[in-house]
Amino acid sequence: MFEKSVAGKRGCDVPLWDGPNGEALGSGYLRDEIPGFPELSEREVVRHFTRLSKLNYANDEGPYPLGSCTMKYNPKVNEKVARLEGFAEAHPLLPPEAAQGCLQVMADLESYLCEITGMDAYTLQPAAGAQGEFTGIKMVRAYHESRGNPRRVVLIPDSAHGTNPASAHLCGYRVEQIASDERGCVHLGFLKERMRDDVAVLMLTNPNTLGVFEPEIGEICRVLHQGGGLVYLDGANLNAFVGVARPGDMGVDVMHTNLHKTFSTPHGGGGPGSGPVGVKETLARFLPVPRVIRHEKGWRLSSDFQESIGKVHSFNGNFGMHARAAAYILANGAQGLREIAESAVLNANYLRKRLEGVYHLPYDSPSLHEVIFSDKHLEKHGVKTLDVAKRLMDYGFHPPTIYFPLIVKGALMIEPTESEGIEDLDAFVDAMLRIAKEAEDDPEVVRSAPHTTPVGRLDEAAAARRPVLRWSPHTEKSRS
Ligand SMILES: *Cc1c(COP(=O)(O)O)cnc(C)c1O
Repeated sequence: MFEKSVAGKRGCDVPLWDGPNGEALGSGYLRDEIPGFPELSEREVVRHFTRLSKLNYANDEGPYPLGSCTMKYNPKVNEKVARLEGFAEAHPLLPPEAAQGCLQVMADLESYLCEITGMDAYTLQPAAGAQGEFTGIKMVRAYHESRGNPRRVVLIPDSAHGTNPASAHLCGYRVEQIASDERGCVHLGFLKERMRDDVAVLMLTNPNTLGVFEPEIGEICRVLHQGGGLVYLDGANLNAFVGVARPGDMGVDVMHTNLHKTFSTPHGGGGPGSGPVGVKETLARFLPVPRVIRHEKGWRLSSDFQESIGKVHSFNGNFGMHARAAAYILANGAQGLREIAESAVLNANYLRKRLEGVYHLPYDSPSLHEVIFSDKHLEKHGVKTLDVAKRLMDYGFHPPTIYFPLIVKGALMIEPTESEGIEDLDAFVDAMLRIAKEAEDDPEVVRSAPHTTPVGRLDEAAAARRPVLRWSPHTEKSRS
């Protein structure tokens, strides 16, 4: 816009004021000229922003196979429900008597989540998975403190999501890593050796970030419990077994799940998320307040829980997400939820079978909802994971998660989710196979990708750490 600016062009013509200059408002209210402000017609401005809006990639446009993120399609009926006037217009300060419907949606969602995960009680306050972890570990701390000793250490497998150690640290714990075995699972021997009475909790991602289910979860829980510790389950990836298995039945004490993953509420772009936390009865008294409770005349909010860790979010969390997730759960029912997990696992394994051999599979344990490859087979052509990801953009796909989990060198972590059909999976695989062939025949075309996007390779570190999000004459000057 700055480049297209022509001095004197206007967006619209306001009739000239024929009175004395500045007198209608008073000169103090008149804005100064903004130096260097672009001058364009309305048509040019509208076209500029419309063109920019088309540069976004979204799940409504094509597959979004970001491993660990569960970027599934969000059915539009959820949006319709969340926009019902009684939900969308409810003021967060309404007295409970005037918000009975909203409170009932929250109470219902809590009970659905209890049923789905086998936990005894939920809080819907946390606004993200990471905040759910923080809330969960705060409750773990409160539990141990109530028994006289908060303990010092949180054990976390080396395949964990990066938010796990961050949450443990924020709650004042020291993090110790537990190595994975050759299957990519928790090394039970190491765990047994390390389990002592300074360990507060094990934070376990299951299925772990290799997309592998921890087969010894029952034994893992027994080891922790025998030593007086607890088990926290990072259930962000519930998509892999929702409707099939329940963490509560496996011995887990506290867990979070992400409504913006498994339960199909909007995701990413900084929009509101939701990371409800479920606990077993032993921890329920520490849940954040206020809690939605039933009394004879309907629902009310109660802060009457002496041992609560307090509030973790303003009001009651992101209610719009609760309405969407409740709609999604009701629309699918028990059978539908099971089919979600089964189709997600089937889709991931379909990709695995079609790509295995061409792309290197570092762990051959059975895959659940996502599959992890590496760039090992491409090394001899001088092509890396980053190059494959960039080249995929030329073929119209959002790249998968790359270089995560950290225990796989050059990882490509692909999660198709259940919402892709076979045509889309095949198109994605074809692009991946074509890229592998290009790496052999013409590696430079892959190494210098993307070729069709508005900008080529960015400095990834600078783009993340020092993003320039707004033009101003000042930044323009400092750049030149
Ligand atoms: C996404 C994810 C998280 C964090 O969730 P946010 O909502 O992004 O904070 C934590 N653990 C795992 C395994 C995840 O996939």
